[in-house]
Amino acid sequence: MSRLVVVSNRVGPVKDAARAGGLAVALVEALTACGGLWYGWSGEISNDSDGRLRMTQDGDVTLATVDLSEQGYDQYYNGFANRTLWPLFHYRLDLTSYDRRYYETYQQVNAQFAEGLVPLLQPNDLIWVHDYHFLAFGEELRRMKCDQSIGFFLHIPFPAREVFITLPRHDKLVEALFAYDVLGFQTDRDRRMFQDYVSRELGGEVWENKARAFGRTIEVRTFPIGIDTRHFVGASESPEAVNQYTSMREMLKGRHQIIGVDRLDYTKGLPERFEAFERLLEDYTDIHRKVSFMQVAPVSRTEVEEYVDIRQKLEGASGRINGRFAEFDWTPLRYLNRSFSRHQLAGLYRASRIGLVTPLRDGMNLVAKEYVAAQDPEDPGVLVLSRFAGAASQLRSALIVNPYDVKGVADAVYDALHMTQQERRDRHQTMMPDLLAHDVNIWRDNFIDAMRSIERREAA
Ligand code: UDP
Repeated sequence: MSRLVVVSNRVGPVKDAARAGGLAVALVEALTACGGLWYGWSGEISNDSDGRLRMTQDGDVTLATVDLSEQGYDQYYNGFANRTLWPLFHYRLDLTSYDRRYYETYQQVNAQFAEGLVPLLQPNDLIWVHDYHFLAFGEELRRMKCDQSIGFFLHIPFPAREVFITLPRHDKLVEALFAYDVLGFQTDRDRRMFQDYVSRELGGEVWENKARAFGRTIEVRTFPIGIDTRHFVGASESPEAVNQYTSMREMLKGRHQIIGVDRLDYTKGLPERFEAFERLLEDYTDIHRKVSFMQVAPVSRTEVEEYVDIRQKLEGASGRINGRFAEFDWTPLRYLNRSFSRHQLAGLYRASRIGLVTPLRDGMNLVAKEYVAAQDPEDPGVLVLSRFAGAASQLRSALIVNPYDVKGVADAVYDALHMTQQERRDRHQTMMPDLLAHDVNIWRDNFIDAMRSIERREAA
């Protein structure tokens, strides 16, 4: 069996993968099965070029990491990755930085990372590159004469052509993507957006799961990422989850809870969500004191200015909403900038009548899937889900909303609060089989199979 090499921005954890859950466990399992290698950024910044590659062995998995220089951290990680590609691919042209230096450093860092990996490679390796930090990684490997099978999975959306072409040298980035053998997207929509760009902007050919341009034909496929559904259902019955569930229900004193769980990020639609909650309280006074909203939002990317702005905005909005509506024995909105373990989250999801997941744009959104998996099948809650989350293409029995339409979201939440137990059960029952059939392990196996089938075809 070929060895698997995973390349991703952050590496590990291996030992604590089970606690981290989801993707880390799925990757560690596949790496362990073939004595694989996991390669990426160490999370450290250093300007010392000696001994930058660090190798450690963890069971059957080899971890190899490289530090970033200060310039790499500023212009590649905080710059092109998080201030250019992230907002642009999430349709936030207003927040996108088009600084040319960022792009140049991005290319250099991709080349340096590729250079670090080449000496570690074996001839039959399957190389699986992850996400927007490494769009140009495969091209750099090819430049260094690597002819292994290389796949790339984009965890975030691929934007519409008109949005993407605002990026200077967009064609160079796509040319780099043609160095891969398999390109994976979260949804058919993302895949079609890519194919649309190839045919209309580059005059390339696209058909079914293929694209041809720059003299190469590549596989272009949809692999919607899942959660570890069985594990998550189990987690929702674990002692940690039951504890969290019980103390939450006691605190709620018979009130219904709406829950939101998101990294504090401007793509998640949090200001609009707070506004929708405010509108709900304005328009439906009958639910006052009977419902409260808890938003969990651990801070992220604190060095990027736009993340500081959104934090301030939300602090203002939560103060205003509680100021307007709170009573001495009722706090309508609880806004927490802290994180919870997945087991605790499972308990919180289960204690909540409504899961409110309203990103303005999201590659998939795993919280939506976790919320459904954590419910009691006999008395489940209702998922209210943005049509702009990748998960909406699978979780069709959620209440699907337009997150920009504040009144529409408020009304959907009101309907969800009044939904009969039978309807809640029916909706839950139609979503669970899909979550079980398309879990993170199937996602991983399908992607690896797609890379292997290229390898077999080339050998034949
Ligand atoms: N998460 C967590 N603790 C928290 C908040 C979030 O473990 O306090 C996890 C959550 O369970 C989910 C992930 O972080 O698995 C977020 O994934 P998602 O796809 O929803 O959004 P992303 O942050 O990747 O954009």
